[in-house]
Amino acid sequence: MIRTGEQYLDSLRDGRRIYIGDELVTDPTDHPAFRNATQTFAALYDMKADPALRHLMTFEEDGERYSMYYLRPRSKEDLEKRTNAHRLLAEFSYGLLGRSLDALGSQITGMSMKPEVFEAEGGFPDHMLALYQHMRANDLYAAYAIVPPQGARNPEFYQSRGIPAPALRVTGETEHGVILNGMKMLATGAAIANESIVGNILPLAPDQAAESITCIIPLNLDGLSLWARPPLATDIAFEFDKPLTWRFDESDCMLVFKDVEVPWERVIVHNNAPLSRDIFVKTSAHVLSNHQSNVRFAAKLRFLLGVASLVTEATGARDIPAVRETLGRLAAMEAGFAAMVDGQLQAYETIDHGYTLYNRRYMYAALNWAMENHSPIIDIIRELMGGGTFQMPASISVLRDPALREVFDDYWSTSRHGAVERMKLFKLAWDLIGSEHASRATSYEKFFVGPAFSVRNYNFINAPWDDVHGIVGKLMDSYDVPQTPETAD
Ligand SMILES: Cc1cc2nc3c(=O)[nH]c(=O)nc-3n(C[C@H](O)[C@H](O)[C@H](O)COP(=O)(O)OP(=O)(O)OC[C@H]3O[C@@H](n4cnc5c(N)ncnc54)[C@H](O)[C@@H]3O)c2cc1C
Repeated sequence: MIRTGEQYLDSLRDGRRIYIGDELVTDPTDHPAFRNATQTFAALYDMKADPALRHLMTFEEDGERYSMYYLRPRSKEDLEKRTNAHRLLAEFSYGLLGRSLDALGSQITGMSMKPEVFEAEGGFPDHMLALYQHMRANDLYAAYAIVPPQGARNPEFYQSRGIPAPALRVTGETEHGVILNGMKMLATGAAIANESIVGNILPLAPDQAAESITCIIPLNLDGLSLWARPPLATDIAFEFDKPLTWRFDESDCMLVFKDVEVPWERVIVHNNAPLSRDIFVKTSAHVLSNHQSNVRFAAKLRFLLGVASLVTEATGARDIPAVRETLGRLAAMEAGFAAMVDGQLQAYETIDHGYTLYNRRYMYAALNWAMENHSPIIDIIRELMGGGTFQMPASISVLRDPALREVFDDYWSTSRHGAVERMKLFKLAWDLIGSEHASRATSYEKFFVGPAFSVRNYNFINAPWDDVHGIVGKLMDSYDVPQTPETAD
């Protein structure tokens, strides 16, 4: 099935419980905090369903059509099809939707390519395969929450108060399923998604088996609530003033479980601490989903480069040699990152069961590059903008008053650009690098894969240490320790 935007919007009216402070929201399509984002995702679904894009956005298997990111790749061409679909989806949001439709769709597809990882004790390969079929058959949008809350690091504190630690855990079993209590961090997009993966990307100690629970759940289960961070699009009167916040505030929520019964068929790992992490990193899940992240970041870099260049045109500084040099540096970064993404495809790997996969090391290298360089790039653009944003009126509402409008047109226009045109660009640029939406995105780019040390750990554990040691050893073996009088015959 390929869903339309309308079908997606209908699916969100399912009685979920989202809290914004003490305000309860049950229909995200009809609340100013989430409405625009649901419209954005509806438009994304409609784009995907467009018959003209059918060959790019969908594939056929056993007579049915599915979204391309559910394709299990068996050749380089399949990988290329996946990348192209990611690219179209990312370009739609200028790379600004972190958890786009294809992010978690790729995750579960990757898991389904290596079901034997789930064959350990406490793993449910059949459930996982059925959930993969369910997600692609219904063209679902999923989020994920796979990090424990920070407070869970200190369970003694909670024990001393006689209350359970907040890390999500299984507190009971029934014939129908497991009972969950606690909370999980931090499901981007959950307020407007259909389902969420709940699990563990960070290693658990052997005595944390109850926390190893991994499941894929609908977001309207009894006892489940979504605690949202402050929404950003609520009080914007004109799209013009914050065009990116307006469309792309995808939301982040803590998932809070109070005696939630999760049916067995939704459980994919239970009571196996190492397995709960292995299913991400020992299957293709991490690579497929983070290749999507890389493709998204590449789209964002192109957008950043375009904004940087246009801003310097608007300030009149673009032709100054030092500014050109800065733009050249940004252009080199953008092109270099695009090459890192293409390299993942060109140096693809053939893996078990005849499947193919993007180059794992190149993918992790690109993740690290993006994590390290996003903030410096934003800072470069901030410098290029000077005080441009702050010379603009607070809102485009200034145009409603003819007298103010006249002054604005007279004083804010330049030889190259009209006042409104300049303001439009600077408002957009600020929403990209300086607004609260931009600031949240800066945290996102630092943390969405996990903290920096874990991103570097992925690079460490996948590095071919024996090979690189061998290169050094080969050279060292090619010359001898000089003979000393003692060792000479
Ligand atoms: C905007 C945003 C969106 C997110 N979306 C999602 C999502 O969709 N799904 C999801 O599951 N998670 C999501 N996350 C959560 C993300 O996975 C976590 O924030 C991330 O794993 C870091 O964990 P933490 O926040 O507990 O930070 P911490 O682990 O507390 O790390 C904070 C800092 O402490 C230091 N530190 C802590 N421990 C160590 C250590 N052992 N060694 C060295 N330094 C250390 C580092 O400086 C680190 O940068 C999101 C986060 C953000 C900010």
